[in-house]
Amino acid sequence: MSPTQPEKNSAKSNGHSNEDVDGEHNEWKFRAPYKVHDNDPNFKALYEGSCHCGKVQYQLSREKPISAKFCHCSTCQVLHGAPFQWAAIFHKEDINFTHGHSDLGWYESSEKTTRHKLPCKVSCAYCRSPIMDEGRNMILLFPSLIKFKGRGEKEKFDPECHMFYGNRQLDIKDGRPKWTGINGKSELVEDSPVEMVRKRKREIEEEKEKGVEGEKKREKI
Ligand SMILES: [Zn+2]
Ligand SMILES: [Zn+2]
Repeated sequence: MSPTQPEKNSAKSNGHSNEDVDGEHNEWKFRAPYKVHDNDPNFKALYEGSCHCGKVQYQLSREKPISAKFCHCSTCQVLHGAPFQWAAIFHKEDINFTHGHSDLGWYESSEKTTRHKLPCKVSCAYCRSPIMDEGRNMILLFPSLIKFKGRGEKEKFDPECHMFYGNRQLDIKDGRPKWTGINGKSELVEDSPVEMVRKRKREIEEEKEKGVEGEKKREKI
């Protein structure tokens, strides 16, 4: 019996058709992040979040995201209808949907398909609130959906940087590091902390030197 069989049986008894449940191609529906942690003593709910209409509701078991950032890329701007996106990274096992498994919709931006194909955007199929970006190994949640109890909790989700800031719709002078593209792999600009800018410049110089040396070596070969 596959480890997901009990969940599959309960989905069927809740009225889901066999073709929505059976077979290898439906396995993902019963694995993290969609796996239900009912009666799981290891899953401790620390936060709760929900979409605008309330059909989709979830819990989180990790106190602090692995990291949090603001993304100014054009895909986020369009898909969120906002100047930039606030995302917090979690493991897939950190989330438990308590409502709305059947009310989710998917969108994969390179093929523009609404099939579940990773990495994809996950939203409420009814009110269309973006719920998360599901990557191959991680999920990026949108903390605006979480009901924080006080500032202390919210501070744990504080973004550590801006990414794709080169594509920004507006300037945000908050002193956070600002990467032109992906964080750690592009240039730091505007009012990024001076020390970080110097460090990044040195890294870029070193990378260039290594590149030149590498070319010289290749020429010799
Ligand atoms: Zn909704
Ligand atoms: Zn983005």
